[in-house]
Amino acid sequence: MNMESVWKAAFDREIEEQGVPHRWTFTLDDTFETKRGWLQYMQCTFGRFCCSCCSRWWNSAQVHIAFMITSDRTLRHGKVKIKIFRQKCKRCSLAILENPEISHENIQRVIHNLVNKIQRTFYLKNSGNPDLQPIVYSDYFEGPHEQAHCEACKLQVCPWQTNEKKPQKPVNCEVPRVPRLPVYLHRQTNIPRATYGSSFLDESQTNQEEPEFVKIIIVILIVLILCVILPNDFKK
Ligand SMILES: [Zn+2]
Ligand SMILES: [Zn+2]
Repeated sequence: MNMESVWKAAFDREIEEQGVPHRWTFTLDDTFETKRGWLQYMQCTFGRFCCSCCSRWWNSAQVHIAFMITSDRTLRHGKVKIKIFRQKCKRCSLAILENPEISHENIQRVIHNLVNKIQRTFYLKNSGNPDLQPIVYSDYFEGPHEQAHCEACKLQVCPWQTNEKKPQKPVNCEVPRVPRLPVYLHRQTNIPRATYGSSFLDESQTNQEEPEFVKIIIVILIVLILCVILPNDFKK
């Protein structure tokens, strides 16, 4: 099974387990083009790399993974593209960018968080399953993060570009990159989820006129009492 099929199988399984409606497709995309209308969602996990020059292995708790997500509600079809960022050996001058090795357990955790994100963003549904942290299999890491050896830094999507001084620890890092569309405004503001996107409005939001109508009826009744009943009382 190649890398793409492992990820795809984990994705299909999670989509089914969480009961996500509509059809969802999952593909590997090394080009990493940002497109309008696609949601970018980033995560970090633990993985290890092997240099093809010196055969040395190194661990990283900052293996960056970007997902580009879009959904067409009319066609009932969602699409996910995944880009896994590579790293270079720090010791070899002729080193090339290497793909990480990520355990099946960590792949499942990343996919679990991804499907949670899809549920929250496209179906306004909180699955109740908390996001999962990666398993860190080793305490031994190489020195500080170096931009020259990180593909995500080169493409300017590495969270470490703004967090250089913090110690390395495995976290799920979500970097908002496409806040232009109103649908994704909740990523930057505290607008309640149910109101952030007009495309996601549902029936529960259409009955807000009712309290006004009741108020008007009450006012009419009071006016009637004042005009009809009270003057009669005074006559007595
Ligand atoms: Zn090397
Ligand atoms: Zn970086």
